[in-house]
Amino acid sequence: PHPTAVIRVRPLTCTETRRGDQQVVHSLGDGTVHVSAARHDATFGFSAVFDAGASQEAVFEGSGMRQLVELAIDGFSCTVFAFGQTGSGKTYTLMGPLAQGETRPAAAGLLGLMQRSFACLLEQSRSRGSGLALSASYLEIYNEQVRDLLHPGPPCALPLRWSKTRGFYVENQLSVDFESLEAITNLLLQAGSQRRRTSAHTLNRHSSRSHALLTIHVRSRAVSTRHVPWGGFGACPSKQGTLCFVDLAGSERVKETGSSGELSVEANNINRSLLALGHCISLLAKPRGKRTHIPYRDSKLTQLLARSLGGSGVTLMVACISPSSRCLSETLSTLHYASRARRVTTRP
Ligand code: ADP
Ligand code: MG
Repeated sequence: PHPTAVIRVRPLTCTETRRGDQQVVHSLGDGTVHVSAARHDATFGFSAVFDAGASQEAVFEGSGMRQLVELAIDGFSCTVFAFGQTGSGKTYTLMGPLAQGETRPAAAGLLGLMQRSFACLLEQSRSRGSGLALSASYLEIYNEQVRDLLHPGPPCALPLRWSKTRGFYVENQLSVDFESLEAITNLLLQAGSQRRRTSAHTLNRHSSRSHALLTIHVRSRAVSTRHVPWGGFGACPSKQGTLCFVDLAGSERVKETGSSGELSVEANNINRSLLALGHCISLLAKPRGKRTHIPYRDSKLTQLLARSLGGSGVTLMVACISPSSRCLSETLSTLHYASRARRVTTRP
């Protein structure tokens, strides 16, 4: 199978409308998106395209997110990652408007993929006799350092290690058990939107300057009544799956954000890791026989995503784009990136 790639086009913002930006991105239905501007005219095909009018619920149901949650319960490593330039709607898609430093809970209809997935997991847990054991860990990669967002006190960098049995893993990473929607939502709010590194720059007042990875560990003790394809055992005593949400930092180029000093160091680190990710994706997209070594070690991001990228996981990519003419070049680059990513072959 291949990763699923879907596109989400956000509405034009008030500022964009006021200054008269043209809308250059149009969904043509059937998973195709058309970009037309003075010197560009291109059509791209994906698993699904959500345009400005699409609700958060429509994105959850239409992207295959629900199936991903079910696969995690069945013991698979599942990853959803949101990417695109700053201000394109990544955080909104994953968490809804509540991530924007607001303390009041958002209206139910605006909840993002994360909260909808948690609700789905908890619902499944309740409906199964023995329940699911759920825990969460939350990391960010800031300036090529891995930090534990659940760790109280000032941020400290954790070492990233590799072992034959576990692959790449973060040493001494905290994880917290949860049993209610409220508990996990609060954890997300407190750890994520308040501790995560954000800096204001010209594209977005609450722009995320780090990559954030929230991993939900799902352990199911339920006895499987399904047919076990690899035979041997009729019932699985326990299955351990993961559901990882990756909110990537914006992909824009340094000169367009008016960044300087500390901000430009951040931007360079972000761009370097996104380039490394793109490079791994391009190599993975080649037919298996023609593949060379995949340089996961080029960045912390690619090491942490190695398992989900490299074939044993199930991946959903949500590419977020702005419809504005001013974002044209970033939009085209996001669409090319997403098209390449969906050619990777995986063996979950
Ligand atoms: P990113 O995380 O990609 O930098 P955000 O998710 O913070 O971008 O979105 C930027 C702004 O656009 C926010 O104010 C957000 O509320 C708004 N926005 C993004 N996507 C949508 C959408 N689909 N509908 C309405 N507003 C949106
Ligand atoms: Mg964001």
